[in-house]
Amino acid sequence: MTKAKFSLKPLSKFSIASCAVICVTQGAVARDFSPPTYVSIIQQAVDRAYSHYKTVTDGENASYISYLAKANTKFYGIVVVTTDGAIFKAGDADYPFPIESIAKVFTLAHVMKIQGPKTVQNKIGVNATGLPFNSALAIELNHDKLTGSPPPGNPLVNAGAIATASLVDGKSLEEKWNMLLREASAFAGHPLTLNKDVYDSEMADNQHNLAIAVLLKSYKSLYADPTETIDLYTRECSYDVTAKDLAVMGATLANGGTNPLTHQAVTDAETSMRVLAVMATAGLYNTSGEWLYNVGLPAKSGVGGGIVAVVPGKMAIAVYSSPLDAAGNSVRGQLAIQSIAQDLGVNIFKIQMQK
Ligand code: GLN
Repeated sequence: MTKAKFSLKPLSKFSIASCAVICVTQGAVARDFSPPTYVSIIQQAVDRAYSHYKTVTDGENASYISYLAKANTKFYGIVVVTTDGAIFKAGDADYPFPIESIAKVFTLAHVMKIQGPKTVQNKIGVNATGLPFNSALAIELNHDKLTGSPPPGNPLVNAGAIATASLVDGKSLEEKWNMLLREASAFAGHPLTLNKDVYDSEMADNQHNLAIAVLLKSYKSLYADPTETIDLYTRECSYDVTAKDLAVMGATLANGGTNPLTHQAVTDAETSMRVLAVMATAGLYNTSGEWLYNVGLPAKSGVGGGIVAVVPGKMAIAVYSSPLDAAGNSVRGQLAIQSIAQDLGVNIFKIQMQK
């Protein structure tokens, strides 16, 4: 992917008023404190992360997709959206970029809502692969268990995501695609559109993903035609979003499936909960363990440079910055989210002491 040597480390100390810890971790963001207090604390955390990492140049653009290789590395935007619908921004919050792997979350949510969590577990799998996002070896290792027809892995890495795309219902490719785009748009709260240049660029270099689809088919773990499935999967990777869109999409999951801006029930609370669990297992591919250890939030990244982390019941934090680490995760995105999460004291493993 890239020669970048970045790896996320624990941050040493909290630096924003300890009030933020109480304010955001104990119950509702807006309910326990007057709006000016929590507003200034969250905006302060966003601004601090923005300015602190603005000059970081570590990482490289994804080079295996020619469109992404040319992305302008100076764009950098951060957005927090709370489950109350408040929005906090810094930098290039409205700059569009291809969603890439983050779309896997919303396709998973769609398939899980329609077909149920058991189907996802049995036909796709929900364990971490511990291997790079585009690993074909992960399929081979799983099938070596010789347990009949075991699932391809995890819906948030390529093999599992391709299998997930093959479970989308519809009479034609167009019908399936329109369904996925409509659903993703509902998560974002406005119509999203396919970036045709990205789609063409990826389709031209898609041999590896096609090979994964054919391998899955040979193991009876692909549930539709490989060529059509890869077309659908590539379309889902190729729609544009902004950091603000990602934050709204993540905040919808944080809010039990109801978009906090449009108030549309896009999905249900159980689906949101299980999708977040899968994000925790594999949202950052083979560095998901380090991420969970250091940040403690379910998150999802894409090789387009986007990343979104979710604080269940409270908010989502999204960042765009195209240079990636060796696993394919935005370098500045990880740093900024870690900083904001730590400033606000949000971590799903944090013990809430009762007074
Ligand atoms: N479209 C990309 C691929 O299939 C998505 C990968 C990613 O974002 N990690 O390789």
